Amino acid sequence: MARGILVTGGATGIGLAVARHFAENGDTVVITGRRQAPLEAAAEKIGAQAVVCDHTDPEAVARLLPRLPERLDVLVNNAGGNTDFDAAPADDTDTGPGPLAAFAQRFRANLDANLVSAALTTKAVEDRLAEGGAVVSIGSIAADKGAGAYGAAKAGLASWNLGLAQELGQRDITANVVAPGYIAETEFFRDHLTPERRDHLIASTALGRPGLPEDIAGAVAFLASSAARDITAQVLNVNGGERGTR
Ligand code: NDP
Repeated sequence: MARGILVTGGATGIGLAVARHFAENGDTVVITGRRQAPLEAAAEKIGAQAVVCDHTDPEAVARLLPRLPERLDVLVNNAGGNTDFDAAPADDTDTGPGPLAAFAQRFRANLDANLVSAALTTKAVEDRLAEGGAVVSIGSIAADKGAGAYGAAKAGLASWNLGLAQELGQRDITANVVAPGYIAETEFFRDHLTPERRDHLIASTALGRPGLPEDIAGAVAFLASSAARDITAQVLNVNGGERGTR
C-alpha cells in the first residue's frame, strides 16, 4: 500500500534524495520549501507534490495541514541548515540593535531553523500520523563537534526527540534522528568549505570519503520501514566512521 510521506525541505540535497527514494517506492510524497521555483521543479522531477512552507512560521505550518495526505505514515524533518552561512556580514556602520542583539538574533535563527521548525511541524501533524508510522528528523555530526548555535540546535533536536519518542510510542509511532556526517553534492560541502578543509574532514572518517545524499536516504527509509518497528528514541550516525563519534 502506498504510504503518505512528508519531507520538509525536499527540493534539494538530502531532502530531495529522501523524497525521491520514497517516490520511487510508489509512496505519495509531499515536499516543502520556501522557494517556489526550485520546489516545483524538484516535485515534478520525482513525482511528488510541492507545498511552499516556511517551517519556522507557525501560521505557514498550520496552512500545510489541508495539503497533506489524509493518512500520513512518515514525517521527515529535514528542513534546516547552518543559518550563519546566510547571515549578512556584520556592518560596522550599522546603528541598529547593537552587537549583542545581533548575536542573539543569529543564535535564535539557528535554533528556529533546525529545532523549532521540527518541533512545530511535528506538533502540527501528529494527530494525522498513522499507527505504525515514523518521524525521522535530520540531525548532524555538528551536534558532537562544538559547532556553535547550529551544533547546539542539532544537539537539542536529539534531546527533543527522546520526549517525542515517549509520547508517540503510545500510538506505536517511532521517532528517531539520522545524524549525517559530511555529505558531498550538498550546498554546505560545495560552497562553504575550502578544498583543504574538505580534505581534512574526509581524512577524519574511517571510510576516507564523504557520504552521499542517497546514503542518508537509505538510513531514513530503513527507520521508516517495518524492519525498524522496534527502534525508537535513537540517533543513527551516518558519517563514514568519523573519529570521536560512536
Ligand atoms: P540544502 O540547503 O540543500 O537543503 C535544505 C532544504 O531545506 C532546502 O531545500 C531549503 O529550501 C529547505 N529549507 C531550509 N529552511 C527551511 C525552512 N525554514 N522552511 C522550509 N524549508 C526550508 O541542505 P542539505 O541537504 O545539506 O541539508 C538538509 C539537512 O541535513 C539540514 O537539516 C542540515 O542541517 C542537515 N545536514 C547536512 C549535512 C551536509 O553535509 N550537507 C551534514 C549534516 C546535517 P528553501 O531555501 O527554498 O526553503
